[in-house]
Amino acid sequence: MRLAIIILFFSIPIFSQTDLEVKFYYGKVNDSFEIFVDNNEYCEVTAVLQLSHENVMVSSKNQNTFLIPARTKNLKLSSLTAIDYGKYGFEFTHKEYRGDITKSSYSNHYPYSLPFLKGQVYKVIQAYNGSFSHQNMKAIDFEMPIGTTVTAIRSGTVVKVEDHFETQGETEDFAKFSNHIIVMHSDGTFATYGHLQQNSSKVKAGDVVNRDAILALSGNTGWTKVPTLHVEVYRPKPSEKQYIETEFKVGFGQSTIFLKENQIYKRDYR
Ligand SMILES: [Zn+2]
Repeated sequence: MRLAIIILFFSIPIFSQTDLEVKFYYGKVNDSFEIFVDNNEYCEVTAVLQLSHENVMVSSKNQNTFLIPARTKNLKLSSLTAIDYGKYGFEFTHKEYRGDITKSSYSNHYPYSLPFLKGQVYKVIQAYNGSFSHQNMKAIDFEMPIGTTVTAIRSGTVVKVEDHFETQGETEDFAKFSNHIIVMHSDGTFATYGHLQQNSSKVKAGDVVNRDAILALSGNTGWTKVPTLHVEVYRPKPSEKQYIETEFKVGFGQSTIFLKENQIYKRDYR
């Protein structure tokens, strides 16, 4: 006798907080359904899967946090099997985050390089919690002529390059037009370099870069008043970024300091 399996409810709502290239899907294997994920990002991604179901046995808990390695295909997250042959069903939602949101430690007192070449001098026009665009944000803005070479403050893997925008404005709604590069460091923190010049990137996602490597040219895209380079370091968290206070090598590079608004800093080290 053939057993009837009736699917009661069955949907795959896509709830995604980010623009990450992460894809969830399911497939039927014998009498079970299996949920898979592809992570096309160049960094690990935290996926939070929330399942609801009826008359189904699940191989994972109803909510599960998974760490998906970079560039992973067909990773099985869960499998669901009908408890008895009758009506059954399931649905799930998911959220995903760049990086490992469960990680609690990072390297303190890392000596960051200034993000420009030796011999150059730039003014910090906005620092932590600055009044123009850094409310609740620990980021540094350097005033910098368009076309200045931007270098990596720390080595890592380039995980995102966005450099096709050309729009700039002085209000928050222009923030989304900021060309930027994101680099993941070995301790799981990320650096974002913002307001870059259109089509100026010298790196692509997946590239491994050393500290002081050339990343792009500075510009005036996104939410700015004047040509600016924005730099921030953070670790990923479910609700919002956790910003890291960064100490930069200045002068000849023998000591590190926290940069201050309206101060001018010179780089005299390689
Ligand atoms: Zn900024």
